[in-house]
Amino acid sequence: MLLVLSACVAPDADTGGLALPILPDAPVGEVRAAEDASTSATAIRTLPEQWSDVPIVIGAGPSGLTAAMDLGDTLVLEAADVVGGRARYAGGFLFLVGTEEQAALGIEDGPALAEADWEALTGAPPTDATRAFLAATDGVRDRLVGMGLTFTLQRPSPASRALREHGPTTSGRGLVDALAANLPAGVEVRVSTPVRGLVFVDGAVAGVRTDDGWIGADTVVIASGGFMDRADLVQLHTGWSDGGWRMGTTYGDVAADGSALDWAADARLGTANLGAIGTYRDLLALPGADGTAIQLASSAGLPWVWVDTTGTRFIDESATWSVLLSGFVQARSNVWAVTTRESIEAAVSEADLPFLVEGDGWRCADDWEALGTDLGVDAAALVETMATVDTIRARTAFDALGRPSTSFSMRAGTPCAFRPGSVAAKNFGGLAVDDDGRVLDAAGAVVPGLWAVGEAAGMGVPGMGGAWGFDGSLSAVLWSGWRTAAAIRTGP
Ligand SMILES: Cc1cc2nc3c(=O)[nH]c(=O)nc-3n(C[C@H](O)[C@H](O)[C@H](O)COP(=O)(O)OP(=O)(O)OC[C@H]3O[C@@H](n4cnc5c(N)ncnc54)[C@H](O)[C@@H]3O)c2cc1C
Repeated sequence: MLLVLSACVAPDADTGGLALPILPDAPVGEVRAAEDASTSATAIRTLPEQWSDVPIVIGAGPSGLTAAMDLGDTLVLEAADVVGGRARYAGGFLFLVGTEEQAALGIEDGPALAEADWEALTGAPPTDATRAFLAATDGVRDRLVGMGLTFTLQRPSPASRALREHGPTTSGRGLVDALAANLPAGVEVRVSTPVRGLVFVDGAVAGVRTDDGWIGADTVVIASGGFMDRADLVQLHTGWSDGGWRMGTTYGDVAADGSALDWAADARLGTANLGAIGTYRDLLALPGADGTAIQLASSAGLPWVWVDTTGTRFIDESATWSVLLSGFVQARSNVWAVTTRESIEAAVSEADLPFLVEGDGWRCADDWEALGTDLGVDAAALVETMATVDTIRARTAFDALGRPSTSFSMRAGTPCAFRPGSVAAKNFGGLAVDDDGRVLDAAGAVVPGLWAVGEAAGMGVPGMGGAWGFDGSLSAVLWSGWRTAAAIRTGP
């Protein structure tokens, strides 16, 4: 393991051997955002306790690992006691374009087709950075295959081609373990070492602050993930109100606590697209009579279909985990999950049954037409939609929307409907970066020495997530680390 840090430097030490442009007791005014006495930046009044001759990477999630992998000699500071970030808990599904796995199933694909799909996928046309990403995903796959991973296409239905999700047979944990195993010898990873702030001198990054003092460095890569554990930030940037959504679960001590946004506020760094949050439409809970949520059983046979104002189905409901399909829902008004009372009752535990009373979140009617009228959707179309649902199962392997016909298990009975809720899953906005991952300040100028990759920078690819993001963005996370490492190595 390469020794990457110099010895501790006392505040009054001779600065001759240091590359750091700061004098003992240097005026705080030289430090970015110095006017705000509460900032982390102004807390730095001394020379660094240590000086890193190599780039510092903040965070050992997938983006930090890929950045470090290609930077070579690097110091990686990780807050948690494990590497791999949130991806350690993920299925590890990757959005990949034009792969051997697709070709083997007779699915024609390539970057041009993906570009054509892009606006429908994310709610915005592809940016130049997005185009570069789409052209690079097959290379991401090839590098991972070179590390021993193998992939399967998650939804091989031709109607689901747009999803392009490839799962590593090892899951997310196997994926990040493979990345960690492929780090070069010059990478030092320090776990349980949270970074508390950034240090700037004369507008350029000068290091990072830790609990053991600050470490000087002239290249810092922020790979600290998104802000999904911060309800205040999610609500601020989306305008969602309490009750209409919920956070994803906490994952070990791997926090997505928005450190990067705190540092952006401290130092007036630019941010972009913060309202673009990948959500999963969560149909697994109903409001109960006692005010608590009643969980519906999660099984392959989902006993409901989604309709919008037109009274017709517009998506494959079996993909309720899908950010893409959530985007389709977000783009529509008046969406309902339609089912029967008998299906709901079958999906609720016996203990919860007494609390299952119709309320604001869901309602029933005598027949489909009356229900449609009550919901404010096209009632005649709803009647027709529900008539076809029963027949789909017997007819085809996949229905026209790509849902496996075996997953329709609605019971006959009283028509009911409820509102889909949402779970906040991941950020498609974050620090503003250029197409190589250089962090921009609030005025759009490059901050020398400071880079950001992965979810901390909205998946690291400017504008890529559009209005609501897409599934499998982990491929962008991985690619952004490799791309930024190449740009750092190339130099200005
Ligand atoms: C359950 C689950 C399933 C998912 N499934 C998928 C999927 O199948 N496909 C997909 O595309 N995406 C999926 N995601 C999202 C995906 O995991 C993330 O988008 C991805 O991990 C982001 O990578 P990252 O490197 O940017 O950040 P992270 O994975 O969040 O890693 C950031 C790292 O930085 C560390 N860190 C944070 N702050 C500091 C600090 N101040 N100092 C030092 N270290 C710090 C964290 O501890 C963490 O290790 C899933 C997420 C979860 C939680």
